[in-house]
Amino acid sequence: MSRFNSSRLAALEVYTPGEQPQDQPYIKLNTNESPFPPSPGVIKALSQKEVSRLNLYSDPESKRLVETLAAHYGVEPDNVFVSNGSDDILNFCFWAFCEDGAVFPDITYGFYEVYANLHGVPFQKIPVNADFSIDPIAYHNAGKAVVLANPNAQTGLALPLSDIEDIIRSNPDHVVVVDEAYVDFGGESAVELTRRYDNAIVVMTFSKSRTLAGARLGFAIGPAELIADLKKLQYSTNPYNLNRLTQLAGIAALQDQDYYDKASQRIQATRHRVRRALLDLGFSCTDSRSNFLLASSPRIPGGELYRKLKERGILVRHFSDSRIENYVRITIGTDQQMDALLDAIRALLS
Ligand SMILES: *Cc1c(COP(=O)(O)O)cnc(C)c1O
Repeated sequence: MSRFNSSRLAALEVYTPGEQPQDQPYIKLNTNESPFPPSPGVIKALSQKEVSRLNLYSDPESKRLVETLAAHYGVEPDNVFVSNGSDDILNFCFWAFCEDGAVFPDITYGFYEVYANLHGVPFQKIPVNADFSIDPIAYHNAGKAVVLANPNAQTGLALPLSDIEDIIRSNPDHVVVVDEAYVDFGGESAVELTRRYDNAIVVMTFSKSRTLAGARLGFAIGPAELIADLKKLQYSTNPYNLNRLTQLAGIAALQDQDYYDKASQRIQATRHRVRRALLDLGFSCTDSRSNFLLASSPRIPGGELYRKLKERGILVRHFSDSRIENYVRITIGTDQQMDALLDAIRALLS
């Protein structure tokens, strides 16, 4: 740290993103990206013409994209906020809605803790059960904002909508943020609840099921008042928060829903097959509703499995958190990629 840096930031622990090594090609199963390219419509939308307009600022309201999202999810445009990745929006949620503190599970998306620390938000981590499931009752009457990924990050386990609704209903004076980054792989969306409760907001991303991680596009759906609060932060930090190309890519992706539905179905079918294969190899493996599996073998520690797979050109994610240090998180790729993974694991175990 330089001697000029704010002392408030001195102790900040940053988020560690999954590695993106450039030294050799890997089978990348470590950051929950899609193995499939964007839809043909998205690639067509990113025209030379739009590139030649990059001298001009983008529409700060992302009007066409917001209208397309609103129509897609059956809400009004003032129920939609868009920004540069859902990380940006989660950051705003911690900034805006957590004056009384925040609660989230001990095993979940690591960024929640970073944002809480960044904004000086006192937080409580509620341990997930031994089987990694979330006890919904533990979030009732929290007295603080509640932040839940559903399906949950790292475990892939999902809560039914009725549990989410009970949590929202029991915290009428605090915002409940539902992070639905993985909802399209088998979860139940809480968008419908945001019409009926003034304290519920859903955050989603184009990075996972809509195969646009590199475009950086996230959105939130919620009551107009909460959306206005997020816009206030947008216009106080970075009004042109979405570039021209990303706005076009997002609109085009929503027009190619069939393509993305099929891609999500393929991921789910592959997930099912790989989970069975891992169970047959003696692994324990969460019943994930996401595009990844959290898996552990009694025969090889998580850290070692991660390293040995990397030596074989396959990247998975390993977390040092003691509760899951014997696990690896494996993104679901193409069938071919997953067969390579299973072959490598069989070779390592034999
Ligand atoms: C991937 C992910 C995000 C971040 O998505 P971006 O839109 O790429 O910033 C947010 N929350 C969870 C739980 C995620 O897994």
